[in-house]
Amino acid sequence: MAIVTETAGRGDVPDGLAQLLETIRNQRPDADTERILRAYRLAERAHEGQARRSGEPYITHPVEVANIVASLHMDEDSVVAALLHDVVEDTSVSLETVKADFGQEIAHMVGGVTKLKLNALPDATDRQRAAAETARAAESLRKMLLAMAQDVRVMVIKLADRLHNMRTLASLPPEKQVRIANETLDVYAPLAARLGIWQVKWQLEDLAFKTLHPHEFQEITERVSKSRHQREEELQTATHMLRTSLDERGLKSASITSRPKHLFSIFNKIVKQEIPFEEIYDLQAMRVIVEESHECYLVLGIVHELWLPMPGLFYDYIAMPKPNGYQSLHTKVIGPGGDPLEIQIRTRSMHEIAEYGVAAHYSYKEGKKVESGGFENLRRQLFDWSSDSRTSSDFLRTVTTDLFSEQVFVFTPKGDVLDLPKESTAVDFAFRVHSDLGLKTVGARVNGIMVPLSTTLQNGDVVELITRSNAQPSLDWMEFIKSADARSKLRNYFRKRNRAESVARGKEAFEKGLRTAGIDPKLVTGEDRMKEFAKLFTHCENAQDVFARIGEGLISVQGAVEKMRGHLRETQPETYLKLRAPSKEATIVAGGIDNVMFRRAKCCSPLPGEEVQGYVTRGRGIIIHGRMCPNAMRLAETESERLIPLEWPEDGTVYPVELKVICLNRQGLLMDISTILGESKTNVSGMTVRTLANHTAEIDATVEVRDLTQLQAVMNKIGNISDVISILRVMRG
Ligand code: MN
Repeated sequence: MAIVTETAGRGDVPDGLAQLLETIRNQRPDADTERILRAYRLAERAHEGQARRSGEPYITHPVEVANIVASLHMDEDSVVAALLHDVVEDTSVSLETVKADFGQEIAHMVGGVTKLKLNALPDATDRQRAAAETARAAESLRKMLLAMAQDVRVMVIKLADRLHNMRTLASLPPEKQVRIANETLDVYAPLAARLGIWQVKWQLEDLAFKTLHPHEFQEITERVSKSRHQREEELQTATHMLRTSLDERGLKSASITSRPKHLFSIFNKIVKQEIPFEEIYDLQAMRVIVEESHECYLVLGIVHELWLPMPGLFYDYIAMPKPNGYQSLHTKVIGPGGDPLEIQIRTRSMHEIAEYGVAAHYSYKEGKKVESGGFENLRRQLFDWSSDSRTSSDFLRTVTTDLFSEQVFVFTPKGDVLDLPKESTAVDFAFRVHSDLGLKTVGARVNGIMVPLSTTLQNGDVVELITRSNAQPSLDWMEFIKSADARSKLRNYFRKRNRAESVARGKEAFEKGLRTAGIDPKLVTGEDRMKEFAKLFTHCENAQDVFARIGEGLISVQGAVEKMRGHLRETQPETYLKLRAPSKEATIVAGGIDNVMFRRAKCCSPLPGEEVQGYVTRGRGIIIHGRMCPNAMRLAETESERLIPLEWPEDGTVYPVELKVICLNRQGLLMDISTILGESKTNVSGMTVRTLANHTAEIDATVEVRDLTQLQAVMNKIGNISDVISILRVMRG
């Protein structure tokens, strides 16, 4: 602890921290160094007693990472987060503490970096390991992309973390070195390239190269330095000539530097493109940096006056920037000694972007955040990997191909990123944001342009929804939505909407039945009374439930009316006594009625288990009607003497019943229904399917059942199939 307080004082500051503070003060004299010191103290206290593999105190690592972040000209928040990047993962300090001490934004970044940590792979066979590695890389890449999209600074810190780990790789066991170097080459260097952070990209590559191919690294290093020595003179001559010409034209502020090629890129040329070392001429290149972009072309003219340009080797990335924002003029000329010489010309701000990429957007000089236009480009850049061959490794390409063949990443107007299944639409997006939003959506703008809701979203799209509070989803949506989540939410909605219709239908039928039975609906259908009544039925809690089940044919009207009669007798005997007296108790029959033939009435197709009555015809036997069948009711008024009460127990005989199923039209649905019927041993004597508008279908099925109980079981099961909207028993009354 004592050390901690001392570090705030002068003189006792460790080297790394002193360097960090100096870098920051140079970049911005008014920087809040006290805040950086506070972060340092917290990290130091947290990591106290921990050591790196090399034996150094652990705190040296976050300090060096912060130094790298600062050298990329990142903002103060990034430096603070870099100092704290390992405390949550490796020490007892919680994210809440970080938040309390340094605010939400820093906590977010630290949390982001922490989440990007990859888990160690389990012991496994080579093949399992390779598969696990790919899966893990895809998963971590997904995390990185989401984290980056939310705050690119998280990724910059992660890259700085990797860079310092690569610099100190030697202290790890050889096997681990190789694995980390490979991962660096496969994932991190290409990501750095994609973000345009060239400074980090080439360092990562050269360090990985050194680990993976130590002999070649050594050889190329020696040859480059030797050849550089030989060419030094020529380069000096060239620099002098150019300097003189620039001065003559008044371009005194232009600076000329020469730059060695990076070792890994030379190695790649030798190995991949099979170019002999002797033929790699552009080992050195010159770079001219000017203030204004029009001066770039002026310098280009001067260069081409001095030396003969090599045909076809001029690139204007100022007029046509690279996708990651890189701008520069590139030309190759025959230099003073007769050898090819590459020259790059750019402005100072172009140079910053070239070296620091997206990090440049966060530099002290340019203010805090990228303006929205810049972000849009960044998003595209992050998520459009399809045509990328320059900056991705094969491995990363495979992983991203896997990743992006299953998912797309899209943005809310506020910049939050969501990953959705591939080929998702604005409707999927809406349900993902909030189920309410999905139900209220009437239109969508993608990247500012109105599009049909069925439009497939692409990586990096910014989706803005247009909603209306009284909007209603369309059944068409079921046709194009991709996410299971949106599908189930929509289905629920349609079920509910359909239920409203069932409730209305059931209520009407029930009230009609009550009136026919002489009960005034107003006396019994009040909400409170119905609540008591509903408890007499399974799956019913209130009037709506009872009405819905009547409407769906799961409770027969006559059954409900009879139950109500009984209910009244129990609870309101006075009302009950005023009712018309119920029919006298019934004659019991089975199979036939005293050898008299009987038929089921076509109007109500009653079943054993239902309350029924018989109509004695003249010479054509007895017709069985449901007790509340409207036709039977009419007969009761004119020929009541021919109606006889019956009881109809189940005796193994099956009777046909017509069902109507309304469902979303999808393949396999008929099969699902048939399966259910088969499983419950219910015969089907006919089934027709009609496709309706709105992607629904109507299935008319005739099933053969023994009694009401079996019918209700079958209807329940079919009603529970996910795409079934409603199922009705058809009555022709
Ligand atoms: Mn770290």
